[in-house]
Amino acid sequence: MAAPHTYQTRAIVIKQSKIGEADRIVTIYTPGLGKLTAIAKGACRPGSKLGGNVAPLTYSSMMLAKGRNLDIITQGQTIDAFPALKNDLWHMACALYTLELVDSSTLENSENGPLFDLLLNTLRRLCQSENDRTVVRYFELHLLQHLGYRPQLRRCANCDSPLNPVINFFSYGQGGILCPHCNRRETTPRPLSVDALKVLRLWQGCDYATASRVKIGSKLSLELKQVMQGYIRHLLQGEVKSMTWLEELEKKSVDNSCGTD
Ligand SMILES: [Zn+2]
Repeated sequence: MAAPHTYQTRAIVIKQSKIGEADRIVTIYTPGLGKLTAIAKGACRPGSKLGGNVAPLTYSSMMLAKGRNLDIITQGQTIDAFPALKNDLWHMACALYTLELVDSSTLENSENGPLFDLLLNTLRRLCQSENDRTVVRYFELHLLQHLGYRPQLRRCANCDSPLNPVINFFSYGQGGILCPHCNRRETTPRPLSVDALKVLRLWQGCDYATASRVKIGSKLSLELKQVMQGYIRHLLQGEVKSMTWLEELEKKSVDNSCGTD
């Protein structure tokens, strides 16, 4: 039987760029087909029925037609446009960061249903939650898990001995924690406090509702951010543009709060 010429899917729009006068190339993430690049014809024309449904940071139901090279989005219906994210610069930056990580860590046509669910749930949590740093850290840790880079947090990643409640070390190269003895051979040691290791272990194995109940002070929050983003940068081996943007926004908010003291 010949493959169907059209198919329907739910999709989160990751990014788009203009092509020609009126068309757009759109990168979407879907539950059953993973990441796809498709064409939205006429999406830039005023009054186009497709336009808003294929805008970045939109969750839509789409009909696509098989194309010779790229598939063509023929219809779209927005399920959620996440207005709460688009109305707040910091939350939008967090959301674009999650989209960029999914985009740069996945290949086209590689199905990963749990990753789709994680991304969608993360965007919904960012709309509702005040606890956005926990939302983002939980996303990073579980993204790594769904991609096969679950960090080894229970035993030393080098000698396999149980880890003691002392300062241990995160080895990006070995993808897990090193005991103080094994860390001596590391060229770029990244110390990890007992509390940070406890939180990462808990978050790795629990649902988000449980993760969100952990109270995280600002020093621990900074440590968790640095270790997770360091590991992600190491794995992606490149700059994550929205990570830099988040850093700048955070720095500005610190400067502003210092200025009002
Ligand atoms: Zn060891």
